[in-house]
Amino acid sequence: MQRDVQDILAENLARVRGQIDDAAREAGRRTDEVTLVGVTKYVDADTARALLDAGLHDLAESRPQQLWDKAESMLDADARWHQVGHVQRNKVRRTVPLIELLHSLDSPRLAAVLNEEAAKLGRTLPALIEVNISGDAAKHGFMPDDVEPLLSDLAQFEHLEIHGLMSMAALEGGSDRARQDFARLRKLRDRLRAKCPDRITLDDLSMGMSRDFREAIAEGATIVRIGTALFEGLR
Ligand SMILES: *Cc1c(COP(=O)(O)O)cnc(C)c1O
Repeated sequence: MQRDVQDILAENLARVRGQIDDAAREAGRRTDEVTLVGVTKYVDADTARALLDAGLHDLAESRPQQLWDKAESMLDADARWHQVGHVQRNKVRRTVPLIELLHSLDSPRLAAVLNEEAAKLGRTLPALIEVNISGDAAKHGFMPDDVEPLLSDLAQFEHLEIHGLMSMAALEGGSDRARQDFARLRKLRDRLRAKCPDRITLDDLSMGMSRDFREAIAEGATIVRIGTALFEGLR
């Protein structure tokens, strides 16, 4: 890895971490309540590894094939991989062994297949329920009203651990709209928490990307998924 690439990544990482600290402080929260996950979908495996060398261990991909390429090429490195985009059921077998957290549980059938695969590996897979909070027809995820009836079914899957909710804000509408969407996800979580089956905890809110992570932290994000801002200045 060229020296300048490593320097740029270290600078970007320090800047983003500083911005997360500031946003947490403004919201009256502790910075260690927010986990930064670096989304490496724009860069190659060498650059992802350089980000890890710069000190970011939580890395994510949106497409399963890209996750396989990167994660399998650096099995020796101590990365914690997250899958944040849609997973087709036929991609589950190769994905489950590689990841620490699935952010994109978006159908009951996917839950069944994930559960089966995790069982074969003798592990439990932590997962977040993806919610289509903005109502965008092009997005994956459950509609907000459909999450509550789902919880008792998900609780049956002994090899899945549901840790929270994930969402993306509307593309249009800027930071005000983003903040409203994040507030709606938090309120949904707060309502559901009271009704949760024992095995399900909804402590995590995965929300906020490069353009709106400050709004997300203000509304209670515990995980922010950031790509673009970490790779600024790279050719
Ligand atoms: C690409 C992606 C991100 C990161 O987006 P940036 O705007 O590049 O920070 C976060 N979450 C998901 C699901 C993504 O696909």
